[in-house]
This record gives sequence, C-alpha cells and structure tokens, in this order.
Amino acid sequence: MGLVAILLVASTLLGGTTEPAESYVVTERLSKRVMLAYWLGIGRRCNLTAIQSEKGLVIIDTEASPRVMAPIQQRIEQVFGRDDWAYVINTHAHDNHASGNSLFRDAVIVGHQNLAQDMQWLMRRQMESEWRRKEVESAAERLQGLRALESRLAVNSADRRRAGGEIKFWQLFTQDLVEGYPVIGPALTFADRHTLDLGDLTLELVFFGKGHSLSDTLVYLPQERLLITGAIIYQHAQLPEIGEASELRDVHRFLAVLDRFLAADVRIDRVIPSHSAPLTRSDLLPVRDYYQRMLAGMQAARREGLPFEQAAQRLAQRPNFPAFRVPQHGEWCYGMHERNLRNLWRILAEE
Ligand SMILES: [Zn+2]
Repeated sequence: MGLVAILLVASTLLGGTTEPAESYVVTERLSKRVMLAYWLGIGRRCNLTAIQSEKGLVIIDTEASPRVMAPIQQRIEQVFGRDDWAYVINTHAHDNHASGNSLFRDAVIVGHQNLAQDMQWLMRRQMESEWRRKEVESAAERLQGLRALESRLAVNSADRRRAGGEIKFWQLFTQDLVEGYPVIGPALTFADRHTLDLGDLTLELVFFGKGHSLSDTLVYLPQERLLITGAIIYQHAQLPEIGEASELRDVHRFLAVLDRFLAADVRIDRVIPSHSAPLTRSDLLPVRDYYQRMLAGMQAARREGLPFEQAAQRLAQRPNFPAFRVPQHGEWCYGMHERNLRNLWRILAEE
C-alpha cells in the first residue's frame, strides 16, 4: 500500500467517537427463544435474528464485516448464556447480511444454491485493489462528514449517539476491508425450500425467487409464529422489487410464496423485515397485491397492444399503489417502480 493510501486509512480510522464498539449493539427480545440484534447508527438498522433451540444457536444474517459482527455476536451469547452456534443462515449476500460468517467457525452456513455466486462480489471487493481503494476513499469521506455532524450535535443526545455508532461502524468496516477478511460461503444449500429440525423448533427456509438478489430466502418459525423476510419486506411501505434477473417464473414464485404465507392455516404474528422494527402479517398483503396487480395490468396492456409508455402510465405508482412510499431522489431505491415496470415489460416480451 502506498503512503497516500496509508495516510488515508489512518485518517479514516482515527478520530471521532471513543465509545467501545459494544455500546452500539442494540438487542430486542422477541420471546424466550428469539431476539433481534442490530448496530445503532443513522438509518443503519439491519436486523440480525438470533434463535436459541435444543440443538444450538442460530443466527439469520451476519452484518457487514467480522469486526462489526463480533460485538453483536458477543452480546447475543451473553443474553442467551451460551455459545453453541449450530447454524448461520444468510437471507442473501448484500452488505450487512453475509460478511460476518467467518466468526461462526463451528456452525453450518446455510443458504440458497445461488448464495455462493451472490457472495462473489464480497471477495472481489477485497481482491481488486482499485475497487477496494474506492471503497476506503468513500468511507473516509463519509467519516469526515460524520465527524463534522457529530461535533454539531448536543452531547448525550440520542442523535449524537447514533452519529457515534455510525462512525464506529465505518471505522470497523474499513479496517476489515483494508486488512482483508475471509468470505465464507454456504456448506448447506437448497433450491426451493429446506427445513431445519432444531428439536423444539423448526426453521422453514423458502426461496423467494430472483428479484432483490439471486438468493433471497425467507425463514418461517411456526412455533414462534414468526416470519423473517430478509430484504423481501425491506421495511414498512418499501416498494417490492422486480429485478433485471427476474423471469416470469420468478414473478409467479413471488406470488406463490406470499400466497402460501398468507394462507389461513399459516400463523404469523410478527414479520421481521431486513431494515426496520418488526411488522405484522398484514404488511405482506400490499406486497402480494403489488405483484398481482403489476402482472395482471401488464399482461392486459400487452393483450390490448399498448406501447410501454401507456402501460406504464396506467400502472403509475400514484394513484395505483398508495401503500408504498415514493422514493426520493438520492435514495438507493429511487425510480424503483419504473424499474419494476421496465423489467416486467421485458419479462413478458421474452415469453
Ligand atoms: Zn439486500
């Protein structure tokens, strides 16, 4: 690494908050057997679900890097009073979901059969020096802004604590990126669904279809009436996705999976989205209806011979889908509905 890079890394890692990493770990007990854990920051919440069972501990998703994951793992072990990790399940391989796997040495890593392929980018980001340099640079810029923000916030305020958490997160993440860390893929994979028998609990893993990523997995715990959705239900009022890799069979699968979880005989009290406080079963309804209306609407438009622009206009987010927030410019999901319309049009044209 050159001198400039070393100075950049040093400036990235120093300064700002001096609180220990553990102080930014938040846990929320859902029941005797289940808790949520996440890192405190600014818009940073990413739910990791920890489960204790007769056959050991399970974690669903493992945060953005080992240094970020380690204090969360320790806290979970403290709360449950045990460290017999049996399984790690990754809902998919985007940031915050699969980069802490290496800390769970004795556990079996479980994921969809596309997960290993989806994880490739985590290795490439470390191996390709140009890519890594850009990531470290942008983290350094972000940290600069965060330190300026932190200094303007009132001491002991909740906002200042969140800024402190955000700073600590980027420091730890950058340190891991600079030093490198092992990316551990799944040892147990499945295609459509897979059940893990944990003695007193069963975990039903269901593939959602190619959309948000290639490997999105939902996990249902019937004994806890709990559904963990990963980024499929991202947060309340977040638009669902139809991706560039989605095919018609994926869209049909989205509907079949949601219909199955919404069936009368399936008990769900709580839905754990990837990035907000717990939701309820009723939050699944607008998502199912979105896919249903989008598919039916586009199919009708094509039967009528409408051009794309008219079909898209007829299915515009407002007023058709009031359950979902319209993303603002600058958000990662800006233009999502229009992207979904384009992808669905392409999917139907390919058929
Ligand atoms: Zn994601």
